Amino acid sequence: MKAVIVTPGRPRSGRLAEVPQPVPKPGEVLVRMREVGIDGTDAEILDGQYGEAPPGDGYLIIGHESLGRVETVTGGVEDLVPGDWVVAIVRRPDPVPCPNCAVGEWDMCLNGLYSERGIKGLHGFLAEYYVEQPRYLVKLPDELTSVGVLLEPLTIAEKALDQIERIQSRLVWQPDRAVVLGAGPVGLLAALALRLRELEVYVYDRAEPGLKSELVEAMGAHYIWAEKRRLDHKLADEIGPIDVIFEATGYSPLAFDAMDTVAPNGIVCLSGVSGGGRTVQVSADHLNLELVLGNRVVFGTVNANRRHFEAGVQHLSEIEARWPGLLSRIITTRLPMNRFAEALQRQPGNVKAVVEVFPLPAGVGQPV
Ligand SMILES: [Zn+2]
Repeated sequence: MKAVIVTPGRPRSGRLAEVPQPVPKPGEVLVRMREVGIDGTDAEILDGQYGEAPPGDGYLIIGHESLGRVETVTGGVEDLVPGDWVVAIVRRPDPVPCPNCAVGEWDMCLNGLYSERGIKGLHGFLAEYYVEQPRYLVKLPDELTSVGVLLEPLTIAEKALDQIERIQSRLVWQPDRAVVLGAGPVGLLAALALRLRELEVYVYDRAEPGLKSELVEAMGAHYIWAEKRRLDHKLADEIGPIDVIFEATGYSPLAFDAMDTVAPNGIVCLSGVSGGGRTVQVSADHLNLELVLGNRVVFGTVNANRRHFEAGVQHLSEIEARWPGLLSRIITTRLPMNRFAEALQRQPGNVKAVVEVFPLPAGVGQPV
């Protein structure tokens, strides 16, 4: 079968190749890939900064944001039938397992021995087929087919909001307002998830007003262009106290600006990955004082577990019902497999790029 593979650690080694097609063992299903979203982690793997081949293989099939259709099931599979649309969960528990992996909370793995499909020690999904155990597959209703590839990036926001709610159960908390930093796919999906919770949402991004600001306004949120407005405590004077800040850019200085911007009792959630070695000067006394005197929380979050995928399916349906067509507009680029590298090119007006492995059959999965 065809797959996009890399030699981990070697920059620009990404290539379309012929690899053996996996064969399902009893209890597994064979999934035919529909499309695969490309994100910053894929870019880092293709750049040789990250990624680990499965033991014994000299290559890694990339891709972790998937949407596929069950092709065949083997004996012992009960909940899935051929034709079902599925999204695969990315992370797998460590073999020890640690206390978190042991209870299915592998997104909280303590020892770092987890594996991740398309990233760390397991092949990914940018291939014509993959094989998986049903417990790592999440079923999607037919009407979500055209946007189902957004489920995995949405789960980053789902986990973040789940964690925020758990942490904030420490007090009587009635949030009104959230600021999302970054209008990339995860930022926009987080903004939608916050809008579903009836918060007043502001999305802050360096892109000049255009498609991103249109998408933000279409969901009833507000766009703040970073060129025109610094992120600091004065923002609250203009828009009101900011109860939640969700950081999704990975531009680390914004994390400190966010600490200076969030309201008393508020929470800053960091989800953006910063791979560089940037140093900045911060007002350490001021930030420390504000965190202490304001009961403020700052925390980091990564990955997601099955619970977040299941919540994400429900929320994709709710978003489609409330803002029809909006999710489809987040997917700005669809490319065939042999042009996967173009998915990494950042162009104004591009939000999410996906690689189409097998195009949709006519009439299937169109938005209703
Ligand atoms: Zn673990």
